[in-house]
Amino acid sequence: MEPLPGYALDLTALAAQLTAKGIRRVAVQLPEGLRHRHAALVAALEQAASVEVVYLADHTFGACDLVTDLRPLGAQALVHIGHNQIHATPGQLTIYVPLESLHPIDEVVSAALPSLHSPVVLCTTSQHLPKLPTMIRILEGAGLEVRTAAGGRGCEAGQVLGCHYGAVRNIAAGAASVLFVGSGEFHPLGLALATDLPLVVADPYTNEVRTVATTRDRILRQRSAAIAKAAQATHWGVIVGTKSGQIRTAQGVRCREQLRTAGHQVELLAVATLSPELLLGFPQQAFVSVSCPRIAIDDATRYDRPILTPPELEICLGTRAWEDYLFDEFP
Ligand code: SF4
Repeated sequence: MEPLPGYALDLTALAAQLTAKGIRRVAVQLPEGLRHRHAALVAALEQAASVEVVYLADHTFGACDLVTDLRPLGAQALVHIGHNQIHATPGQLTIYVPLESLHPIDEVVSAALPSLHSPVVLCTTSQHLPKLPTMIRILEGAGLEVRTAAGGRGCEAGQVLGCHYGAVRNIAAGAASVLFVGSGEFHPLGLALATDLPLVVADPYTNEVRTVATTRDRILRQRSAAIAKAAQATHWGVIVGTKSGQIRTAQGVRCREQLRTAGHQVELLAVATLSPELLLGFPQQAFVSVSCPRIAIDDATRYDRPILTPPELEICLGTRAWEDYLFDEFP
């Protein structure tokens, strides 16, 4: 049986890479949703590559959350399965193994056609990216003009991340709709904030097509309320991420200076994994996060105090107009 059913995983190619580089012990990271398959994967990889595998069992948020010091494990390489590279790991061999979903997309993309207007900006996640040509063929076959572009942060043409939508923003001007092919709420919510184009979501797993019309207004109302609450604070914390691909310390320092200039007490707080429990013992009345930009947006209701993004801090301090609201993205 395949170790990761439903995904195209070329273990032979991975084993060949490890053998060619003389790797004897390797650390492996899997996406959260596939951790229940780790034992099958470890066994298959150990057999295919004649290596010793250490499975990294901590929660991982993706390619922004790599182990960057393998010395305590005595491993010579990190294999990160499920995502492509979004940042460098100097001095460490990191092998990225993006996972292509084998789930068909044809039916749901065809079902989305009546909801789309030309030109269409097409985007998806790394797991469906190999099927981008099929998506384009279906859309163009229906007479639609299709636009795709590469973004920053390692995004290939048509690929979006929860913290980077350059593949859409870069070509949004003059487009009439956005089609996102993928599952869940995470990416559609970010898309709704990153662009105000009509958004259509085609979910290959449920075969559902839906238009996302009210999400942007709902989230912006929540953000406006968070900014208003934060405006009452006189003691702030600036949360600086320490995960490998979430480090924006210089921006955190700038936020601290903005708050100091405005007369507030403020501390820089370095955090790997933020949680409501972690903040319980801290006296600050409001926070700015320069870590994963989605913490402030998606998890807002879990926290008892407002957490703003850097552009939202500018609105709060009166140096940016609300009309110029900007979704916080990694470059
Ligand atoms: S959205 Fe957050 S968790 Fe996802 S890749 Fe970006 S920084 Fe990491």
